[in-house]
Amino acid sequence: MALLFVGLAGVIENRSQQQLMKQLALEAEGLRNGFEMSRKDLELQMLTLASLLAENTRIQTLFSQGVKVLRQEGGGAGLDETAFWRHALHLYLDSRWQLMQSEYGLRQLQFHVSPGVTSFLRVHDPGSFGDQMSGIRPIIEDVLNDQQYRSGFETGRIYSGIRGVVPVWFNPPGKPREFIGVLEAGTSFDQQLLRLDQQYDAGFAVLLRRDHVEQQVWQQHQHRNGLQLPDTCSCYIEASSRPEIVEWLSQEIFPAYTDQTLQSALVKSATQTLHVMRFPLSDYAGLREQGQPVGSVWIWQDKSALVAGIQLDQLRNRVLLLLVYLVALGLLLRLLQLTRRRLQWRIDQAVAQQLATAQALEASEQRYENALGAINDGLWEADLHTGQLHWDQRCFSMLGYAETRALCVDDWYAQIHPDDLRYVQEVIQEHLLNHQPYRIEYRSRCADGGWLWLEGRGKVTQWHNDEPWIMTGTVTDISARKHAENELRRLSVTDSLTGLYNRRYFFKRLSALLSACQRNHRPVAVVMLDIDHFKQVNDQYGHACGDQVLCEVSVRIQSLLRQADVLARLGGEEFAILLADTETDGALELAERIRVAVSAQLIRIGEQKLTVTLSMGVSQVQRSDQSADAVMHRADSALYRAKHAGRNCVMTDSIQSESVQ
Ligand code: GH3
Ligand code: MG
Ligand code: MG
Repeated sequence: MALLFVGLAGVIENRSQQQLMKQLALEAEGLRNGFEMSRKDLELQMLTLASLLAENTRIQTLFSQGVKVLRQEGGGAGLDETAFWRHALHLYLDSRWQLMQSEYGLRQLQFHVSPGVTSFLRVHDPGSFGDQMSGIRPIIEDVLNDQQYRSGFETGRIYSGIRGVVPVWFNPPGKPREFIGVLEAGTSFDQQLLRLDQQYDAGFAVLLRRDHVEQQVWQQHQHRNGLQLPDTCSCYIEASSRPEIVEWLSQEIFPAYTDQTLQSALVKSATQTLHVMRFPLSDYAGLREQGQPVGSVWIWQDKSALVAGIQLDQLRNRVLLLLVYLVALGLLLRLLQLTRRRLQWRIDQAVAQQLATAQALEASEQRYENALGAINDGLWEADLHTGQLHWDQRCFSMLGYAETRALCVDDWYAQIHPDDLRYVQEVIQEHLLNHQPYRIEYRSRCADGGWLWLEGRGKVTQWHNDEPWIMTGTVTDISARKHAENELRRLSVTDSLTGLYNRRYFFKRLSALLSACQRNHRPVAVVMLDIDHFKQVNDQYGHACGDQVLCEVSVRIQSLLRQADVLARLGGEEFAILLADTETDGALELAERIRVAVSAQLIRIGEQKLTVTLSMGVSQVQRSDQSADAVMHRADSALYRAKHAGRNCVMTDSIQSESVQ
């Protein structure tokens, strides 16, 4: 920000400096124009004065007589006659000369004649005449040649100045006018510069090149008052409205002298700040031939007050900017402080919130972990786009894996028991359609190659463009429950003493087979078995021995049956066999084999050995049978007849013709 304000101050000061220089350049232009106009006025004034004098018939007559005798006396300075008329002319003008000097600032008044440029009379220096000025005074030479008046700046033998040169004619009565010579009126810059100084409150000076002055001016006039040669400067000061220029040129406060234009410059003296400008000054010949300038005009103005005012303004601006800077800095610092506090407050809030959230999350995760740990569930997540599957540690350890590893969904499918795979796939497929959380029970391959019952729960938890993306769920080891269920199921169909199927199961299977065989026209037979005189076994050996006998007989019977045959203990010492795809003959044959085998079986009871016999009734399922009871009733009847027939025998029912076959 400090840089910004320093830059701003720089820009303001630079602009103010530019405006100052612009203003000074405009002023310089005005001053130069003022000088040029004043110079034109002077030239016109000199021409007017010269013309007025040239019109004077007395002057014309005296000049004409003088020139006539000069020619007769051989030209140049002339002799006595010439001197007479020159003196007469001087006397005539001398009375007016003082007036012309004081009133019009005239400094030179001179008559010239041909050949060349011969000085006839210098009214301002009557003792100097007859000298030749060809090549020195082109303005006079030109007017002598073509008799046209001219004006301009020119350096003569004595003075430099603004000159007006006019032709002088003599008008003899009744004769054509005769050209006599030229009259030159000249003035210095002194008065003009003083007037300009007053008008513009600026110093004005005309400086001439040193070589120009030394070439034109007679040596005895080169160091007169008013034509000064400052030290260290290759110029003469022709005129100056203020004497200080000598000192400033000498001390090199002003720029070194040249003829070149200096548009505008600010220089400092010990006490002042000056605006200085300079432009070339050409004499008559220089303007005519576009030659080199003979000197330069210098103008300077005291701008101390202006510059001091600007400097004061700059100081004020700096102080103001500094104040603004300090206020802005203060405000900025305050704003930063407030912003910092606000930010800190927000950060603290966010941190506290984050901390609370993290703690809540941690607590939630811990609770979740505890819950999962308590129920021993495994957690999994599947990316359905990439097929990647993530199991937590419990999933792996549940299946007996010591270490976790990267998995994909196909790995999981590959572990599922072939009998459960289709069911699992169907459930998941259905879930992807109806989005209802699913629950499946399946067997999964364990690390040791065995199978483990798992319960899987899951659902899609993230979607991308309406497509299921992430699926999350749990797995639970349900092997214990499955085992309990199986055990319960087994117990519900099993006789607890013999381990055979019980009565309920037998009737259930018979009922199921009954309707199936009636549909398929396949034969089904049942055999009812009863141990003969079993009461005596109990009575003789005790009930426990009776139980043992029941078990031994069961095993013996079972050993004679096919895998598909169902042997059940209906109750007490009564058994039944369900034979699928078996006709009465086959059943009789089997029953006979059982009877023989059991009666031949020696059963050891401690030290005792005993044998038992069986009575059996065989019946075949009929087309008209409406229930299992009907079949069992016939078999029971057959068994009853076997008992009555003396026991240890097999009887069949009497409805052979209605067999299923
Ligand atoms: P039968 O030749 O006429 O069949 O004569 P039985 O003695 O075998 O027939 P009965 O019906 O008179 O007697 C059956 C006996 O079976 C009576 C009962 O104590 C015995 N019994 C029934 N259930 C069990 C059992 O679970 N264990 C034992 N040890 N005995 C049983
Ligand atoms: Mg019985
Ligand atoms: Mg019995």
